[in-house]
Amino acid sequence: MSISKNIDKLTNLIPKETTLIAVSKTKPVSAILEAYNVGQRIFGENKIQEMVSKHNELPKDIHWHMIGHLQRNKIKYMASFVDLIHGVDNFKTLIEINKQAKKHNRVINCLLQAKIAQENTKFGLPLGKIEHILNSKELIELENVNIKGLMGMASFTSNKKQVKEEFKTLSVFFNKVKKTHNLEILSIGMSGDYSLAIKAGSNMVRIGSAIFGDRSYS
Ligand SMILES: *Cc1c(COP(=O)(O)O)cnc(C)c1O
Repeated sequence: MSISKNIDKLTNLIPKETTLIAVSKTKPVSAILEAYNVGQRIFGENKIQEMVSKHNELPKDIHWHMIGHLQRNKIKYMASFVDLIHGVDNFKTLIEINKQAKKHNRVINCLLQAKIAQENTKFGLPLGKIEHILNSKELIELENVNIKGLMGMASFTSNKKQVKEEFKTLSVFFNKVKKTHNLEILSIGMSGDYSLAIKAGSNMVRIGSAIFGDRSYS
């Protein structure tokens, strides 16, 4: 199947309220352009330098989402243009994002990454720590960051029941805190589990291989 057909198919499968992030990490600009030419405007990358060079080469109406683990010393390279940072999992990173956003006179939208997977290889904050950050006075002082919602990744397992439970846990928590903290986005779901995520309440899915095909890392 071609990239454009995959996008069409997903657009039909996903509810209108759910935002589709095309995860283009490791893929060439030609692949991104193929998706762009059928109307896709939001792309996700997991390495800051790769995202910066693609941003430089590609049309400027693309919205770039950083979905990977963040190296604090590289945040400055994307601060002028990044649309949403999904993987924030500590307060020091928020402080750095705020500092770099201020230099560009902008407010950078962020999601706090929750640890929902039972396996211990994934990054993310326990839900209690997320609540602590959302309630903290220090957060109010960060005028150049806006926490728009939460992001999570389920365990890498074929056990659907477990994935469902992990998504559900985050979704229940999201619904509990969203009003008080003005949260809008729940970013859960990838190629293998997006339908489970949408059923659990996701309104933003990050899909790579189901659009661009398998990634080969060399
Ligand atoms: C790579 C990646 C995705 C997309 O994964 P696919 O299984 O290819 O859809 C989604 N989210 C994050 C954080 C990723 O790193």
